[in-house]
Amino acid sequence: MYWEKDIETLPREKLEAVQLERLKSTLQRAAKSAHYGSVFKEKGFDPAKFNALHDVRHIPLTTKEDLRASWPYGFLAVSKDELVRMHSSTGTTGRATVIFHTANDVSEWTNLVARCMYMAGVRKGDVFQNMMTYGLFTGGLGFHYGAEKIGALVIPAGAGNSKRQIQLMRDFETTVIHIIPSYALHLYTVFEEVGLDPKKDTKLKIAFVGAEPHSEKTRKRIEEFYGIKAYNSYGLSEMNGPGVAFECPCQTGLHIWEDNFIVEIINPDTLEPLPDGEEGELVMTTLLREGMPILRYRTKDLTRIVPGACECGRTHRRIDRIKGRTDDMLIIKGVNIFPIQVEKKLMEIPGVGTDYVIILEREGFNDVMIVKAEVQKEFFDGDLFHLEALQKRIVEALKSDILITPKVDLVAPGSLPKTEGKAVRVIDNRKE
Ligand code: ADP
Ligand code: ZN
Repeated sequence: MYWEKDIETLPREKLEAVQLERLKSTLQRAAKSAHYGSVFKEKGFDPAKFNALHDVRHIPLTTKEDLRASWPYGFLAVSKDELVRMHSSTGTTGRATVIFHTANDVSEWTNLVARCMYMAGVRKGDVFQNMMTYGLFTGGLGFHYGAEKIGALVIPAGAGNSKRQIQLMRDFETTVIHIIPSYALHLYTVFEEVGLDPKKDTKLKIAFVGAEPHSEKTRKRIEEFYGIKAYNSYGLSEMNGPGVAFECPCQTGLHIWEDNFIVEIINPDTLEPLPDGEEGELVMTTLLREGMPILRYRTKDLTRIVPGACECGRTHRRIDRIKGRTDDMLIIKGVNIFPIQVEKKLMEIPGVGTDYVIILEREGFNDVMIVKAEVQKEFFDGDLFHLEALQKRIVEALKSDILITPKVDLVAPGSLPKTEGKAVRVIDNRKE
């Protein structure tokens, strides 16, 4: 049943012993990089004296800005000729950062992705269609090699070109897909357009959905539309990319591989560690990286550790579905909200289609929130009365949940602009 049973079910005590040993050597390796070499000196941190896991909180934090400042090679802990691969982040929140891997790093990463895919039920004999962008973005190659390691037949489809994706799925009897959740919803509308039903007209069983925040409701919709299981896949380029944390069949949180990473949740304002169960910013340390070890990386992603043991028997702790990034928080009329709160409400309402965007405007001294939402085909083709009722329902639902009365603009299915990568959910026009 397990890919690496011994490691995945290692008793906590032993797991922590492995972590400590790996962390000690990571610190020694990191000290060789220009960045950590000078940070350690500046902060008076001596890696040779580090000897207890609970002292992790004394290791200096690393930010995306640090990675940008040390562009391109300032984090390297090995000589450049040891490197075999470069990847980069998407650049969602500013200039993209780059990560370098040695051959061992690529192999460890591949192993983690294989572990995740196997956990969700992928086996030799499956046909895996990878609908993520190949290239610098980690979602393409990261999954590709993991799936090959399991022995699945990989179709490196890449992103976009929906009709071709459907054709590939049908011709080669794809059983597993990797797809961005917003694109999964959109692709379903293309199935409808060409008169096909993925439940009947494909052999799909499993989808890995990730790379952007999405609500439980969105996952449920994907599962219902396609008649499959959709597993949440979390990763970030700084920690390799995909393969960091995945759901097991229990779907009660994402196991984060603690033999490869130290995981902490901190209060993003005070930077103090938070206990399991409390929501804060996820901070991670690589434990096996050779090329570019990263210590206490502030992911800016908000989540919590799900307390307690998972029924599947794996001992690696689980993180909750990501709520958003600290920078995604919108302040509207003094109220703090995350786009995912809007999504959650929208996806609960029958008639709301698959795509939406939040537009913020300033009228005089007032913030105005406009929610543009696509409507499901049947609704849109129906009478005006239905649309008006739907609009009212959305306004009421959002008002009671986020305490802001939005303007709701219902638009035709498929009419909002689509991207091949992560969906753009917010357009803020409130600049002074
Ligand atoms: P960028 O940070 O520029 O978007 P990456 O491609 O490295 O570059 O993306 C990693 C980020 O994507 C994560 O830090 C997180 O914000 C988001 N992300 C990835 N997977 C998920 C997921 N399953 N749920 C929510 N957010 C996710
Ligand atoms: Zn589990």
